[in-house]
Amino acid sequence: MKQKIIKIIHYVIDIFVWLAVAITVLSVGVFNAESWMIRWTSLAALWLAGYWTLRSIRAQREADLRLLQLEKGNAEIKFQRDRHIAFFELTHDGIIVLDKNNQILRINDAITDITGYSYNEAVGHQCSKVFRCEKYKEMGLAFGLAYLSIANPTHYEEITAITKDGRPIDIGVRCTKAKHFSGHRGDSLILIRDLSKIHAAEVMEHDFVSMTSHQLFTPLSIIRGHIALMIEGSLGKITEKQKNFLDQSMHATKKMVSLVSELLSISRLEERKITLNFAPTNIVDVIDSTISELEPLAARNSIHLISKISRKSIPLVVIDGEKISQVMQNIIDNAIKYTPKKGTVQIDITVETDNLVISVSDNGIGIPKDDLPKLFQRFFRSSNTLSLDSKGTGLGLYIAKVIVERHQGKIWAESTENKGSTFYIALPR
Ligand code: ADP
Repeated sequence: MKQKIIKIIHYVIDIFVWLAVAITVLSVGVFNAESWMIRWTSLAALWLAGYWTLRSIRAQREADLRLLQLEKGNAEIKFQRDRHIAFFELTHDGIIVLDKNNQILRINDAITDITGYSYNEAVGHQCSKVFRCEKYKEMGLAFGLAYLSIANPTHYEEITAITKDGRPIDIGVRCTKAKHFSGHRGDSLILIRDLSKIHAAEVMEHDFVSMTSHQLFTPLSIIRGHIALMIEGSLGKITEKQKNFLDQSMHATKKMVSLVSELLSISRLEERKITLNFAPTNIVDVIDSTISELEPLAARNSIHLISKISRKSIPLVVIDGEKISQVMQNIIDNAIKYTPKKGTVQIDITVETDNLVISVSDNGIGIPKDDLPKLFQRFFRSSNTLSLDSKGTGLGLYIAKVIVERHQGKIWAESTENKGSTFYIALPR
């Protein structure tokens, strides 16, 4: 406000000077003077005064404009800085800023929560001293990550670090360049996520599912047995109406038993209570027997089941044939279930240097792009399947993944909605 008043006073003075010159020139009557010298000099003075006034006003306006831009720039810089500081301080993830020699320049409060080191204990020290971890013992976490990030800037990994009081702690770490944050070339930023709470929750969930399925299995089996006895008439004659009700109860109980046994087999597999019987196996035999088991289902659904595997060219693999058969059963069963009538399901094998890759392709309903990353999660059923009248638990693919991973293999899928899906299983040779 004060500046505005000063500016207005400047403009007024400029105009006033010009007016004063003009009035003086006119009032003295110099234009009527005899001498042409006096007349021209007065005219020149008048023009000069006007020119000077206009220049001064323009210069003033340009200065104002520059000041305004500077103020805007400063406000933007302050806003960005405040935003960075807020992000730095308030985020639950730990952030360490390092210089190019891996010396700590800054840490946020979350780092203190995760590691136990205070700001003063960490800043100014080498990152490897504050963040000790088995994996990068020699090169140090910061260097190890920075090294990996050169090849892959989004490199993320989960490691176990040691806190100040010597406790092991599971963390997820990512390293990135910090030029925009610290303003210096060569500085880097390490982002650290405390995974211990997530892991604790996973263990709790796992224990809960395992305990519940153990507890449910026996009573459910008893109920199923008793219903079967009643349906058979072993506990006395029953009417047609009673039989209908009992049939429905049997159907529901069987569904529950199959869900509980799936959950049980997941916990046993995960806890490694099920030992796999590895033996050199001809995978073609496993696939052929699965196909013969599922052929009646395919025929009922008018699905053309094709296998073009040449037996000769496929080497033996060391697998648990029964478990891999369970995986194949699930994948082919899904392909049949999620392909409309008259569709095709094709099974193939590719022999690679290190792996045998089995593929099961269908031209069915496909999987929406957003659902693909969640496909192998427990209980996941894709949104386009839910609208179909298909029954399922969303556990089959999860079990398949656990089994394949216990073979050190990999399972994944590619799909286009409404066009079809291909599931791949890579087993080490
Ligand atoms: P379930 O089939 O019992 O629901 P799964 O774990 O075997 O459980 O499969 C999980 C989900 O993945 C299915 O519900 C379905 O949405 C999707 N899915 C699996 N295979 C296919 C396929 N071949 N085509 C389309 N969707 C599939």
